[in-house]
Amino acid sequence: MRKKWSVAIVATAAAAALTLAGCAQGAPPSAGGGDASEPPKDLYTVADNVDLTGSPTYDKAKAAGKITVGVKEDQPNLGFLDAATGKRSGFDIEIAKWIAASLGFSEKQIEFKAIPSANRESAIVNGDIDYYVGTYSITDARKQQIDFAGPYFVTGQGLLVKKGNTEIKSEKDLAGKTVCSATGSTPIQNIKANFPDTKTTEFDTYSQCVDALNDGSVDAVTTDEAILIGYAAQAPDDLEVVGKPFSTEKYGVGLPKGDSALRHFINKTFTDGSEVWTGIYDATLGASGTKVDQPEVDDYQ
Ligand code: GLU
Repeated sequence: MRKKWSVAIVATAAAAALTLAGCAQGAPPSAGGGDASEPPKDLYTVADNVDLTGSPTYDKAKAAGKITVGVKEDQPNLGFLDAATGKRSGFDIEIAKWIAASLGFSEKQIEFKAIPSANRESAIVNGDIDYYVGTYSITDARKQQIDFAGPYFVTGQGLLVKKGNTEIKSEKDLAGKTVCSATGSTPIQNIKANFPDTKTTEFDTYSQCVDALNDGSVDAVTTDEAILIGYAAQAPDDLEVVGKPFSTEKYGVGLPKGDSALRHFINKTFTDGSEVWTGIYDATLGASGTKVDQPEVDDYQ
């Protein structure tokens, strides 16, 4: 059955994004940095009776006794690797672990691979990973090469500037400025297509853009607000998120194209697991007290 996005859900998502932005400007989340906490251990269990046939991706992982998951590792509260402890944390990491558990794989059986925005489709197409969970917007262009389960989160494009910047208050102030974003991302595409008077700088990762912002070589970093809020929370005295979201980014789980059995399975996990979703959200992105609703899954055919 095909489920459509309802206006109500988009409105809720936009309101949520606004709330998140407001939170970043007013009171940075206390769980800033890479220290997003973990959801309760008993939120879900590792499945021992997985009912999934016709999925080549699952069959391969089962035979290997491990599942390979593509993630980000420089995005606080979403997908973050603490280099000192080797611990991964954040909303996307917990969503990835939940999917693995629903497929019968414990955390020890997950091999995480950090893959930057520009290389996601090729990593999936080449079979380097079984699925990808990392601020990955569902787009028709990407669907030419891969499939998406979800959406499991909605945010929107925003701007990160140095605190106290008086020139950039919103996307309307970007003419003549230099903004930084990740190669292959939807935000850099949006700037190039719709902001012709804005100069762009690109790196593989957003943390490289934040470094460029800090050293003054760019005027702003642009990507999803959910990502920018994490950087602002790490350095609340130096960085701030400004303006309102100026796009809608629906996060999906990247999957090999045509593995509809796996796509339906993950979508059902999301649809049936709203309590798990909420537990994961509350422990990570929502640790500052912000509430958002889980988006409705679009189980396209
Ligand atoms: N969600 C956007 C995208 O998928 C930006 C974040 C990212 O690059 O991961 O392109």
